[in-house]
Amino acid sequence: MKSLYPWQTESWQALQGLRARLPHALLFKGAEGIGKLDLALNFAQSLLCEKPHADGTACKECSSCHWFEQDSHPDFRLIQPDALTAAEDGEEKSGAKKPSREISVDQIRDLSSFANLSAHCGGYRVVVIHPAEALNNNAANSLLKTLEEPTDKLLFLLVTHKPQQLLPTILSRCLSFSLHTPTPEAGAAWLAQQGVANPEQALAQTGFAPLQAQGWAESGEGSEERIILLSAIRQPAKLDALALADSLQRSAPIHVIHCLQQWCHDMISAKFSGAVRYFPEQAAEIIELVDSVPSGALMRFQKELLEARRSAFHPLNPKLVLESLLLSYRQLFPV
Ligand SMILES: [Zn+2]
Repeated sequence: MKSLYPWQTESWQALQGLRARLPHALLFKGAEGIGKLDLALNFAQSLLCEKPHADGTACKECSSCHWFEQDSHPDFRLIQPDALTAAEDGEEKSGAKKPSREISVDQIRDLSSFANLSAHCGGYRVVVIHPAEALNNNAANSLLKTLEEPTDKLLFLLVTHKPQQLLPTILSRCLSFSLHTPTPEAGAAWLAQQGVANPEQALAQTGFAPLQAQGWAESGEGSEERIILLSAIRQPAKLDALALADSLQRSAPIHVIHCLQQWCHDMISAKFSGAVRYFPEQAAEIIELVDSVPSGALMRFQKELLEARRSAFHPLNPKLVLESLLLSYRQLFPV
């Protein structure tokens, strides 16, 4: 398990303030890729630790800490979709049934025996649910029943970057705990320490989420698409939408859409304030490009990207989606 990140000091202190009067459920919310799960796991471990340090962090030496780090603590459960567990285990899934991206009702029902027993070690029992928006309808309703009949010293930590997708009845049962995205400076400094090249650029690509930036930098995920896409959209007059969609069709559409969203954000920002956020190296180019584009058309394109993003993980025809987006982009500019 990862230690706390440098930008989490304040959040950690705020959590310590809650220790004396813990609710039955806490909702950790904030942007994707900023370390919410790691914070929740650190908090869970520290609650179970026999001799936490003065700052509340777990000792990492007691038997409880050892169990926790070996994923075998009897008073702890991590509930996440099978697809995440499989990805962490590095399982090959060729031919096999695709692991679910949802948290199923059976996973929540399995908790009932855990919830009804008293703690093995006499202290807290902690359940981390991540990401909480992956709870399917039945699972969410089942969890709601558990939250409606709280058990003493049983704490639920729900982790989400899409709280709007959770049932309002679940939200109302949780104490909300917001985690902030670190400043670009803090994020880039941390990435540099992790050995990520061009930390500022890597960070900007992901919307300033350091862990996501680290993941993308390590896997190279999305970087090839970004280079191909960037070289084409910088010169819209020469852009061949169909050929470009063809060369990008093997990519995960989410990376292409993400990059277009950032480019579009910068065009809008350049038009209204003369500043850019995600493509600082292309700032002058963007300002010049956007001069001939009507604001209304830019706004419509931004909306189209947002809609495409919502269905990006299960598009009916990814190539068609990309073609349509790139054609719309091309049409922003005069012929
Ligand atoms: Zn300990």
